[in-house]
Amino acid sequence: MLPLIRILIENIFKPPITEDISSVNLPKHPKGFHGHPEHDPTRCIACGICQYFCPAKVIKISQIDDKINYHMDLDQCTCCGQCIDYCPTNAIKHRPNPYFVTTNLDDFKVDHQINLIKCAKCGAFIPDMTLIANKLFGEGKPIPKHLSLCPKCKRKP
Ligand code: SF4
Ligand code: SF4
Repeated sequence: MLPLIRILIENIFKPPITEDISSVNLPKHPKGFHGHPEHDPTRCIACGICQYFCPAKVIKISQIDDKINYHMDLDQCTCCGQCIDYCPTNAIKHRPNPYFVTTNLDDFKVDHQINLIKCAKCGAFIPDMTLIANKLFGEGKPIPKHLSLCPKCKRKP
């Protein structure tokens, strides 16, 4: 019993054996090794393609009235890059630094709000397709009417 108490007391006064990551010179990462995804809400049209293709179910998109809540749990992310490859507006990129280290789990959570616009016919909330129209038809060109309609109104004659 006595040796155990001695070890316990010794351990109380010992300094931590782990090093603070911010003070460590990390090795240069191998070529092609990339960081976690970084989401840019100003380029996101809330299409949901990244959510569909994410194999680790990191991305959750939900609608609250005229806004989309775009949520990522990056602690589950495998950095596979599927969301980046499939995003039609380049709203997701790899972080340049692959060493994403933190002791606060909240640092791995991403919550962004994306504004929706109203369908030109019925007023239902729909994603703003301006970025897609610019990509398809060129910057500053008029946006075709069907891109400002909700799916229901698109089907109506
Ligand atoms: S990099 Fe892969 S695992 Fe991470 S969010 Fe994108 S699709 Fe999901
Ligand atoms: S694929 Fe791109 S545009 Fe679509 S919801 Fe994901 S981040 Fe947004």
